[in-house]
Amino acid sequence: DGKDVTPPRFLLKLSGEAFAGNGGLGVDPDIVHKMAREIAAVVRDGAQIAVVIGGGNFFRGAELQQRGMDRARSDYMGMLGTVMNCLALQDFLEKEGIDSRVQTAITMGQVAEPYIPLRAVRHLEKGRVVIFGAGMGMPYFSTDTTAAQRALEINAEALLMGKNGVDGVYDSDPAKNPDAVKYDALDYGEVITRDLRVADATAITLCRDNSLPILVFELLAEGNIARAVKGEKIGTLVNS
Ligand code: UDP
Repeated sequence: DGKDVTPPRFLLKLSGEAFAGNGGLGVDPDIVHKMAREIAAVVRDGAQIAVVIGGGNFFRGAELQQRGMDRARSDYMGMLGTVMNCLALQDFLEKEGIDSRVQTAITMGQVAEPYIPLRAVRHLEKGRVVIFGAGMGMPYFSTDTTAAQRALEINAEALLMGKNGVDGVYDSDPAKNPDAVKYDALDYGEVITRDLRVADATAITLCRDNSLPILVFELLAEGNIARAVKGEKIGTLVNS
């Protein structure tokens, strides 16, 4: 009767920039609502989904550093920004009738659980979405690296990397070069040697060293999260 079949488990990385919508800064509730609807649909279909959301719609540590701020402190601001995205997504998931828990790498008991990996897995097994906030809790890291690390720790099948405004990995920037060619598949080494903008190098090497596949796809295209979860041929697949 299929009861002993292990449900597929994925780590979904959502672009923080996408959360801003056209506003550029902060959170556009319409976009978050759309994300929540798509995630709810795949959870209802039986997939276990953990989420990491970027923070580029609030602060990027490296950008604040360029404008004279201390890097580590700016990075903490960046991490705190991601938590607001997490709370927004949690709210809309709740409205969809999907239980979720936010777990943060920086403890803030009033708004979220602390990051407890075994408890996160337990939530997933109960059909709850787990949203990981505040990155790794460490300056000089990114939410891409966080997504790779959390995917490995919860034993996800793949890292589904949802991008804002681009439907995969190209040999040059498609926004600047109309002749840019999209890759259907790449290996980790090609991503690193060609310096392709899939994620930062720390995230890519972590995936490579642990053979974690990465699917890069357009986040805002209707139904794409479901396609990614079903393993349909969209975007660019990075593996060995
Ligand atoms: N950040 C960090 N450590 C982490 C995750 C994030 O210091 O483990 C900070 C960093 O300053 C980053 C910001 O949080 O610029 C937002 O995260 P994100 O990875 O989304 O940055 P983006 O990819 O949008 O530049």
